[in-house]
Amino acid sequence: MRLRWLIPLALVLGLLANDPSSTGKRWWSHVVYLADDKLEGRNTGSEGYHKASVYVAGEFEREGLKPAGASGYFQPVKFQSREIVEEESSLALIRNGAAQPLALGEDATISMRVDPAASVDAPLVFTGYGLTVPEMNYDDFAGLDLRGKIAVYVSGGPSSISGPLSSHYQSSGERGKFLERAGVVGACTTMNPAAMDIPWARAALARFQPAMSLDYPDLSESFGQRLAVVINPAHADKWLAGSGHTADEILALAKDRQPLPKFDLGIKLVAKVRVRRKQVESPNLAAILPGSDPKLRDEYVVLSAHLDHLGLGRPINGDSIYNGAMDNASGVATLLDIASRLRESGAKLRRSLLFLTVTGEEKGLLGSKYFAAHPTVKPDQMVADLNVDMFLPLFPLRILTVYGLDESDLGRQVRAVAGTFGIEVQSDQEPQRNAFIRSDQYSFIRQGVPALAFKVGYKKGTPEETTAKKWLTERYHAPSDDIHQPVDLKAAADFDSVLMALAEAVANEPERPKWNGGSFFRRFAHTD
Ligand SMILES: [Zn+2]
Repeated sequence: MRLRWLIPLALVLGLLANDPSSTGKRWWSHVVYLADDKLEGRNTGSEGYHKASVYVAGEFEREGLKPAGASGYFQPVKFQSREIVEEESSLALIRNGAAQPLALGEDATISMRVDPAASVDAPLVFTGYGLTVPEMNYDDFAGLDLRGKIAVYVSGGPSSISGPLSSHYQSSGERGKFLERAGVVGACTTMNPAAMDIPWARAALARFQPAMSLDYPDLSESFGQRLAVVINPAHADKWLAGSGHTADEILALAKDRQPLPKFDLGIKLVAKVRVRRKQVESPNLAAILPGSDPKLRDEYVVLSAHLDHLGLGRPINGDSIYNGAMDNASGVATLLDIASRLRESGAKLRRSLLFLTVTGEEKGLLGSKYFAAHPTVKPDQMVADLNVDMFLPLFPLRILTVYGLDESDLGRQVRAVAGTFGIEVQSDQEPQRNAFIRSDQYSFIRQGVPALAFKVGYKKGTPEETTAKKWLTERYHAPSDDIHQPVDLKAAADFDSVLMALAEAVANEPERPKWNGGSFFRRFAHTD
């Protein structure tokens, strides 16, 4: 009896060892395709992005998923694109009538995130975190006269405000409303040293990449701002000279999330900006695995991942292709791997799954914003969004970091599912990085859909933390995020297993997920 079992067991173990899903090889094959130099970093609207979208549509079809775009798997999205002509642009601080020119790229950069006016000339006011949180009666603009002026602030927020609240009110859509109400004509931001993923020199190179906005009047977020500038924190003293404050003092307070002072800087900023504008089109892709329950199959669990990355940019170490292997070929590969596994397993899920790859994430979550506002299924039929963006399988998956863990029923479900794999679940350990609003799940949250996002997690003070931080410093948004980096394929395969089990659990649960009673994000829900 025992002997007779030995052979099939050996056979099964042998099969497992070669099984492309359990080894992560299939996941990796998708990453290799999408992050190949031939796709030139998949910039929104580029030829490389087009190739990537054709590949994803082909894979969706191969896995037997139903087209759910506006045209086949595709949902076209229109953008306005802006590129700075820096040699014809300038910034100068005016102190007591004397102009101090700033070096663009060194002292500061002019951001194309807002469509700038050709020239702006206005006084500067330091506004602390530049943050307004009505439910906490917190308002950095209170008592300041900002009409016709430029607000200067440090990103982040004081520790008295919770991570999700602080993140929400730092989103451009929310902050923009309060800046507009205060009558501000422009904003200058300096990064909080506690949240600087990328060294200044590399972050500054990104200023040459085109910025985009959605080309639809109902989805614009301009708020009357005519100038956006990013200040190099290492040169912030140029702005503070004569104010009685120093950059060291203010950035140290910001790093510890302490309250910040507010004061007139007593100087003006004069900006001249030349912009090259054009129109661009680039699609989202949507596909459905139909559910089996006659009633629940009209509800959708969305699995989302952005397909775009930064494209071609200024060379770093001679390489100008920003391949985006982890950001976010990895997330799209996870969706495709899960689609294959579900087809192979023949699993029947009660609800339908909506596989969604979006464009324009790197431009400000634009593709997902468009889809969430104009979904190809009825808006109230989307019951959850599970978003995968740069989950970083750099070491074994023992801990899963979950963004939004304490906000909805999905938290309970992910804990239960991860538990069956022996994987610990933890919430966001670094709320000041604003991760919960920094990827496409936020577009769904804004439409009332409960959502989660995930990373391969680690504990503070461990070698895994060092590895993850080093990755951000060296490879995040750099050409070296390519297929020649060390990746833990087993961790990726395990991640896909957990995410698939979670999608199945949410799809099969009798009740659709709800926001928790105390969750801030519940305000966006349509039903309760
Ligand atoms: Zn990115």
